[in-house]
Amino acid sequence: MIVHHPEDEFLLSLAAGRLPAGQAVVVQAHVESCGHCTERLSTLEAVGGALLERAEPHPLSPDLLAATLQRIAGVPPEPASTSPTPATAPAGTWLPTGVTWPTSLRGSKVTPWRWIGPGRRFSRVQLPHDPEATLFLLSISPGRSLPRHRHEQLELTQVLCGAFVDERAVFGPGDFDQAGPDVHHEPMVQPGQVCVCLTWVEGRLRFDGHIATAIARWTGV
Ligand SMILES: [Zn+2]
Repeated sequence: MIVHHPEDEFLLSLAAGRLPAGQAVVVQAHVESCGHCTERLSTLEAVGGALLERAEPHPLSPDLLAATLQRIAGVPPEPASTSPTPATAPAGTWLPTGVTWPTSLRGSKVTPWRWIGPGRRFSRVQLPHDPEATLFLLSISPGRSLPRHRHEQLELTQVLCGAFVDERAVFGPGDFDQAGPDVHHEPMVQPGQVCVCLTWVEGRLRFDGHIATAIARWTGV
């Protein structure tokens, strides 16, 4: 059962197409697995459409159409963000049997898993439409934790499988986590199943320990 959902500001920005690509794929990965947020997003999109219909028309500048067409011509095509069929995980990665690869990651390049400590692996995800977005997969074995750390800015996480717990709550399959600079935590994976998360980070993770800091620098986490 999904307990943690994105705040409405993320769903509103997603509905309006204003969410940066790295954040958007994590929020979309949540929405596609969560009936509650799928419904909420539809409502927000409908409200946005109704507001646009009621908005007073304003005169447009004469060169707006030409300028808009010019901008559209310069934008590389984005992959379809919604698809009725689930995307398959690219070669070199894996998810436990029965876990669906998020459709929002369709077309992404994913590096093979890299060791970042006993029971901990990391993989960089590169989006075709925003290769610089700091997006990665983390895989942590039951009973292991990600060493205690802070975030420079915002971190968004979607739990694809397994569950972790920190000082705030338990985050299980399908849950969404938003952590800002105020969160200083050591997420511990619960017994039973490996926990794989899709994470987007603004800035770097700042680990407390010297070894974790050295591994993070070495691997680029
Ligand atoms: Zn939700």
